[in-house]
Amino acid sequence: MGIHPTLHCPCQGRFLTPAFTYAAAPAGETAFDLQGRPYLRRYDHCTVCGHWFGRHDLDLDGLYARDYVDATYGGLAGMRQKFETIMALPPEKSDNVQRIARVRAFALRRGIDESVCPRLLDVGAGLGVFPAAMKTNGWRVTALETDARTVQHLRAVVGVETLDLPLAQMQESAAEPFDLIAFNKVLEHVADPVSLLIAAKALLLQQGFIYVEVPDVAAAAEGPEREEFFIEHHHVFSPASVALLSARAGLSPISIARLREPSGKFTLNAFLTVSSS
Ligand SMILES: [Zn+2]
Repeated sequence: MGIHPTLHCPCQGRFLTPAFTYAAAPAGETAFDLQGRPYLRRYDHCTVCGHWFGRHDLDLDGLYARDYVDATYGGLAGMRQKFETIMALPPEKSDNVQRIARVRAFALRRGIDESVCPRLLDVGAGLGVFPAAMKTNGWRVTALETDARTVQHLRAVVGVETLDLPLAQMQESAAEPFDLIAFNKVLEHVADPVSLLIAAKALLLQQGFIYVEVPDVAAAAEGPEREEFFIEHHHVFSPASVALLSARAGLSPISIARLREPSGKFTLNAFLTVSSS
């Protein structure tokens, strides 16, 4: 089938076996306009590294451009409401509060001092709950977002500096390097996440780090309807495939952890630094 997501994996597809097949959207998935095309997709799973690769012939870029905000949030007002609801969750129910605590604790261990306003680049900032909370903790935040209406939301509602360009173009804009570059539930949406991490590496300070959150294949135990396997995800990761992804991008994982988030999501998180060799 159509798209060919890659990890530049040494397996080269030799160890792929078909896993889940979908002839209809699972409950809860964003209802994209398929323009009359049949809903058909599947996941292949690598028996060596445990990574799952999404396969289909649908044009997701087109889908995002047309109706992502409307289909997911019911427009900009719905997006604001969702942002405010998540920001108001009590800590024990908030994925974001726990994420913020993890990331700040790691930054502290790296010797990054919040009192001097370290710099965060949040790639694919979306609703903006992560940059909003980091800004509150003293970080100078830049959000990257290419969806026009999400950019509007980030500027007007979240109130963070937002650049409307792809990560690959950041180098040309000669920005100051960053202490932290974050990819929260972003890498699974792109066909080639290795290239994205390589582009990020070039924008990182020496003592800086990259924080990654991706869906975890552990969700497969609960069946194909899980949100980790929704249509937007070209990739679902295993701890081994996160390590492989890091290595291919010339990054070293300091930690890779599995967690079940308060929202119920099966998630892997990883802290990556630039390899010394
Ligand atoms: Zn593999």
